[in-house]
Amino acid sequence: MKNNRKLETPDLKPYLIPLILLCGIFLVTSFFMMSGIRQHYYELKKEEALKVARSYGQSLKKFNEAEEIIEDLLEEKIRISSSMAANREEELSNDLLKQMAEDLDIDELDYYDEEGVLLYSNLPEVVGWKIYEGHPIDLFLKSEALYFVEDLRQDVITGNYYKYGYLKVPTGGLIQVGLNADRVQSFLAQYEVDYLLKEMKENQDALSISLLSEDLSVLASTKEDKRLNMTEKDLKEIRESLKGEKEYGAVLSEGEDLIYKVFLRLEDVESGDTLAVSYTMEETLSTIRTVTTYGLLVLVLVFSVLLYSIRVSYEKNRKLRRIAFYDSLTDLPNREYLQEWSARHEEGTFQGTLMLVNILNFKHFNVAYGYEFGDLILQEVSKRLQKLQKKNLLLFRFSMDRFILLCKDFDQKITYDWMVKKVLDLFEEPLRIKDLDLPIQVSVGGALTTGKGEKITELLKYATVALEEGRKKELQEMLYEKEMIDIFQREEILLNEMREAIEKKDKSTLYLAFQPILSGTEEEVVAFEALARMNSKSFGPVSPMEFILIAEKNQLIQKLSDCILDCALEFMKELRRQGKGHLRVAVNISGHQFLQEDFSEGLLKKLKSEGIRPQMLEVEITESVLLDNFQHLNEKLKKLRSSGIRVALDDFGTGYSSFMRLQELHLDTIKIDQAFIRRIKEEKEETLVSDMITMAHRLGLLVVAEGVEEDHQRKNLIHFGCDALQGYFYAKPLSPEKAMLFVEEFDERKTSSNTKRYDTVE
Ligand code: C2E
Ligand code: MG
Ligand code: MG
Repeated sequence: MKNNRKLETPDLKPYLIPLILLCGIFLVTSFFMMSGIRQHYYELKKEEALKVARSYGQSLKKFNEAEEIIEDLLEEKIRISSSMAANREEELSNDLLKQMAEDLDIDELDYYDEEGVLLYSNLPEVVGWKIYEGHPIDLFLKSEALYFVEDLRQDVITGNYYKYGYLKVPTGGLIQVGLNADRVQSFLAQYEVDYLLKEMKENQDALSISLLSEDLSVLASTKEDKRLNMTEKDLKEIRESLKGEKEYGAVLSEGEDLIYKVFLRLEDVESGDTLAVSYTMEETLSTIRTVTTYGLLVLVLVFSVLLYSIRVSYEKNRKLRRIAFYDSLTDLPNREYLQEWSARHEEGTFQGTLMLVNILNFKHFNVAYGYEFGDLILQEVSKRLQKLQKKNLLLFRFSMDRFILLCKDFDQKITYDWMVKKVLDLFEEPLRIKDLDLPIQVSVGGALTTGKGEKITELLKYATVALEEGRKKELQEMLYEKEMIDIFQREEILLNEMREAIEKKDKSTLYLAFQPILSGTEEEVVAFEALARMNSKSFGPVSPMEFILIAEKNQLIQKLSDCILDCALEFMKELRRQGKGHLRVAVNISGHQFLQEDFSEGLLKKLKSEGIRPQMLEVEITESVLLDNFQHLNEKLKKLRSSGIRVALDDFGTGYSSFMRLQELHLDTIKIDQAFIRRIKEEKEETLVSDMITMAHRLGLLVVAEGVEEDHQRKNLIHFGCDALQGYFYAKPLSPEKAMLFVEEFDERKTSSNTKRYDTVE
C-alpha cells in the first residue's frame, strides 16, 4: 500500500481538455493566420500588379491611337505643304521652294513637270533629275490617284530615308514633299512598344514588362533575354484561364526566385495581345515573414499566458488540496485524506487492521506547558509513529491527539497483537522536548476486518468504540468486539436524544428532580439539591452519571448545563413565589462547566436577569475539578463566594482532598459521600465520620451527610453534630411540585405534632 500522495494532485481532466483544445486552437489559428497573411499580401501584390498592368494596357492603347494620329498629322503636313506649293505653280522657283520648305519646316520640296523631270527644288543639287520607269513617282503619275503618301523609303539620289508625299498639279506635273526619316523616326520612336515598355518600367518598380502574342510568345519586353522563363505547364494553365478571364495573376518560380506575374488581355492594341508584368516577391515575402513572425509571437504570447494561467490555477488547486488533505503540523495525511482515499481505492476491499492511537492526557500537557509545547509533542509522536511506516502501513493524523494506523493484510489477531506491541514499544522511552524528558503514554483501539467487506469508516467507528472501552477499563489497548458497539450505539442514541431535547426544550426527556436537605436538628428543610434526570425514549430512565459523561465527551455539556441551570432557576423562582425564598437550591456543576473562563460571570448574570439573590444558590463541585490549576480555580471559588453564592465540595472523601487542602479552599460546605454514611453501623459509633465532621467544623465548614437511608445513620449523624442531612430516609429526589408539597407537609407536621418522625416520601 503506497503512501498515496497522488490525492493532492487535482483531477487532471478539467485541465487536460482545455489544454488540448487550446493547443488545437493555437495550431489552427496559427495555420489560418499564416495562410491568411500570405493570401492577404499576395492579393495586395496582385492588386498592385493588376493596377499597373491595367494602366499599362491603357497606355498602350492610347499610344497606339497617338501613333495613328501622328501619322495622320504627318500626312496632313505633307498634304498641306504640297497643295500650298501647287497653288503657286506659276511662280515656282528654287528660291521660292526653299523659302516655303523653311516656312513649313519640311526637308524637301520639289516640283516635277509632266515628263517627270525635277524642275525646281529647295535642294538645287537634285534639279534636273528625271524619274525612271518603276520609280514610286512614276507609278503614282501613272495612277489615277491625285494624292499619295508613301511609307518611309530611301531616296534614290541622296540615299537618305524619307517619308514622301505627292500631289498632282493641273499642268500634269507634281509636287513632292519629303520629311527626313531621322526626324520622323525619332518622333515616332516615342510611340514604339519597346520604348513605351522601357518608359513604363522606369516609372514603376516592376521587374519586367512584356508584350505577348495571343499564344503568350514574347513580342516585346523590357527583359534583355526577351523570354518568359516559364514552364510549359504554367503557360498552358495561363492560356486556359485567359480564355475565360481578362486577367490572371500567380506566384511563379523563376529559378530560385519567386515572381509574381500578372497577365492582362489587351483590347484595341495592335502591337500585342497580352501584357505581362512581373514583380519580385522578395519584399512581399519579407513583409509576410515579418508579419507572420509578429503574429506568431502574439499567438505564442497569448498561448503562453493561457498556459500559465492554467498552470497557476492547477498549482493553486494542488496547494488547496494539500492544505485540505494534509495536516500542517505533522505533514501527515489527515482525516479527509483517509475518507477520500478509502472512497477512491479501498471501499469494501480493504483487508487488515485500523488502529486508533491516542495520546493519553494530552490535554493536560497542553494546559500545563502551553499549546506550542503541545504541538511539539504531536510532532515527536508523529515522528515515532512514522518509524512504523512501511509499504503496507499508512499513518494519518486523525484528530488533535489521535493518529490512525492502517495496516493492510494484518487481519489476524496475532499480527494485530504484534503490531500493537510495536506501537506501545515506541513510547517506552520518554519524549525529549525542549530539554525535558516527557513520559508519554498512548492507548490503542483496534478493529480487524472480518472478510465481510467492512468499510474504512466502519472500522474507524469500531476502533473508536474499542479505544473508549479500553479507556473505561483503564487498559492501554483494546481490540474491538461485536458487543462493544451496543454501548457505543446507546451513547449515540442518548446523545441525539439529549441534543433534540435541549433544542426543543423537551421537559419530558430532560428535567430536574429536587432532593430536600434538612437541618442537622431535622427541624426544617434548609435546601434542595437539583439532580438532573433523563427519561430516554429508547432506554427509559438514564443515570445522570451516564448521560452527563456522554454530554461531556461530545461537547454538549455547556448546552446541557445551561438547560439545567434554567430549570433550577425556574424552581427557585417558584419557591420565592410560594414564600420559601429562604430555601437554597444546590446545583451540581460539572468540571467542564466550572473550567469555563466566564463561568462565574455567566452565573451571576443569569441570577441577576432572573432577579434571584445569589445567596439562594449553592454550587456543588467535585474534587477532581480542582486537580489541575488549583490556585486559579480556588480564586474562582473565592470570587463566587464573595458574590454571595455558596460553594459545596461534593462527594467528600472519595478523592484526594486532605484536610490540609480543605483549609486552603474557599468553601462553605463539604458533602460527605454516601459511602461513608453507609459505613455507620447501628451498634457502635462511626468514628471516621464523626472525626470528619469535627475537623470540618474546626475549619469553619458546614457538613452535609449524603445518602442517609437508615434511622441509625441519622441518629448518629445528629449526634455527631452534622449540619445537614440528605437521603432517601427523608425523601428521594422529587418533582418540583412534590418538592413544594414536601416542604408544606413538613412545616405542617412540625407545627401540628411537633414530631421528628419522618417517613420516606416518594
Ligand atoms: P451527587 O451530586 O452526589 O448526588 C447525590 C446522588 O445520590 C444522587 O444520585 C441521589 O439521587 C443519590 N441519593 C440521594 N440520597 C440517596 C440515598 O439515600 N441512597 C442512595 N443510594 N442514593 C441517594 P443521582 O441523582 O443518580 O446523581 C448521581 C450523580 O450525578 C450526582 O451525585 C452528581 O454527581 C451527578 N449529577 C446529578 N445531577 C447533576 C447535574 O445536574 N449536573 C451535574 N454536573 N452532575 C449531576
Ligand atoms: Mg451533588
Ligand atoms: Mg454526592
